[in-house]
Amino acid sequence: MSAYPTFAADYSEAREKFLAAARIAGATMSRYDTAARGPGGEALSTDVAWLGPDDASKVVVAVSSTHGVEGFCGSGFQVDWLARKGVAALRRDTAALFIHAINPYGFAWLRRVTEEGNDLNRNYVDHGKPYPDNPGYLEIADALVPSALSGPAFEAAEARLRAYRTQVGDVDFNRAMSGGQYTHADGFFFGGGGPSWSNRTTHAIIERHLARRSDIAVIDFHTGLGPFGYGELITHYDPDTGGSQRVRAFWGESVTESKRGQTSSQARDGLGHYGYNRALPNARVTMATLEFGTYDRESGRRAFRGDHWLHKYGDPLGAEAKPIRAAMRKQFYPDTDEWKEMILFRGHQTVRQAIEGLNAKA
Ligand SMILES: [Zn+2]
Repeated sequence: MSAYPTFAADYSEAREKFLAAARIAGATMSRYDTAARGPGGEALSTDVAWLGPDDASKVVVAVSSTHGVEGFCGSGFQVDWLARKGVAALRRDTAALFIHAINPYGFAWLRRVTEEGNDLNRNYVDHGKPYPDNPGYLEIADALVPSALSGPAFEAAEARLRAYRTQVGDVDFNRAMSGGQYTHADGFFFGGGGPSWSNRTTHAIIERHLARRSDIAVIDFHTGLGPFGYGELITHYDPDTGGSQRVRAFWGESVTESKRGQTSSQARDGLGHYGYNRALPNARVTMATLEFGTYDRESGRRAFRGDHWLHKYGDPLGAEAKPIRAAMRKQFYPDTDEWKEMILFRGHQTVRQAIEGLNAKA
């Protein structure tokens, strides 16, 4: 048995663990059901736990599964915090809002995208305006999701990507591939098509639980970028704004700010960062992405290639799905004790610092 039993083997187990830990901790629960189903036909939902005074003016928010399959990490942390910290770790006038599986479809199917095929972290744009363009993506779209995973078409696609990468360099290659695009609904990092269910649910949760609070810290748990097990706190505030000052006051020198060029993560439109900050114009919002490293970017690309191929050309319920889903799971959830130990240490540190930051004298 794992030394870290708060981490689950699949979405359904994660949900059970979260509900049980929240109940024991005395949380008030709410649930948001999606019409999408899991691979076994199971119902899917986002579950929300509120812990602490109903009228708290300060709230620490922890979000899991923005990118579906990455939810093993955030869920394991949320359950551990509820079990080991809970209300005793809060301060006067401070509450915790834990959002479990904001993208339950992606979690259940071991995908990064939502049921609409959206990258939720590219979906918080103004859908009434023209979408940002990504000309690089147009160049390589068909090569990123080839019609076959072996044989001549596959080899030609890989050769095309190698040639494009040599032509533009690593930075522009990664920007084209993962910067987000609004043209290929079955492709990588697709942000368009309208607000996804998970986006609308986020706004419903904000309206119900956060709209009238004055100080809100948001930590959005992610995996897949950076050194194995290392938790990078990434923020996107403009330099010398209140947000930028607060992230440093809360989390010190370990915060990286994209607008200062301190992280390889780009401040692209459509991020949850903009979703939360725009939806809460009257609150002091202090938001960071807590991004845990797993394996390298190239193995990530191969995992995405399989996943998008499966859902565009293959049979997501057929035998061919099994190794593809296993590769996605491993890429975003290493599932080893050493990795989980790092997640828990950094997660607890980050939430504790956020609670202290919310309560520091200005
Ligand atoms: Zn992510």
